[in-house]
Amino acid sequence: MPAENAPLIITEPIHSLTRELIECGRDFHRRGWSLGTSSNYSAVIERGPLTLLMTGSGFDKGRLEADQFVMVDGEAQALDEAFSKPSAEALLHTVLAKHGAGAVLHTHSVAATVLSEHFVKDGGLRITGYEMLKGLAGVTTHESEAWIEIYPNTQDIAALARVIDARLRDPARPLRHGFLMAGHGLYTWGETTAAARRQVEVLEFLFEVVTQKRLLFGAF
Ligand SMILES: [Zn+2]
Repeated sequence: MPAENAPLIITEPIHSLTRELIECGRDFHRRGWSLGTSSNYSAVIERGPLTLLMTGSGFDKGRLEADQFVMVDGEAQALDEAFSKPSAEALLHTVLAKHGAGAVLHTHSVAATVLSEHFVKDGGLRITGYEMLKGLAGVTTHESEAWIEIYPNTQDIAALARVIDARLRDPARPLRHGFLMAGHGLYTWGETTAAARRQVEVLEFLFEVVTQKRLLFGAF
């Protein structure tokens, strides 16, 4: 690890992960899903011990630079004080990584914000009947609906991380696809940054469809 105040020397694998996450930020910002300093992204660098590269707290996601990332351990602690401060939500990333996610992407779109605020009373949002559902990881061609769980927004990220951990372990109906925090945004993941990015694109498309449909045709 770099000595205190020493510049972070990025090795090639980390460099490519950094590049992928910077590209996610540019793209998501352009589409209105990661405006200002909202959102955070991470990718697993190694699993033994678990080490994640993640966006530091408070940086504009449309203009991320390589020195605005932080490496954290499995407990979401920065590996060196020389790094930026990790996001307050880092524990959500580490719990998902422990369950196999290679990358975790969190966005704050208007559609996800509005829908999650409205449907939190139901505990989730059921999306039915759209071709785009087949774009979600693990969805078979016979499945025609997805259930996206919604949790109340909270500042107690450690408590939410324990809930997510339990939901991922649930043998009967484990958490799938991603989850929403009410009035806040989406968390989703994939084995790679590219896979997680596809999940964001599919889910944000579906949230937009549901929102537009309600606007055009009212409640349904
Ligand atoms: Zn957030």
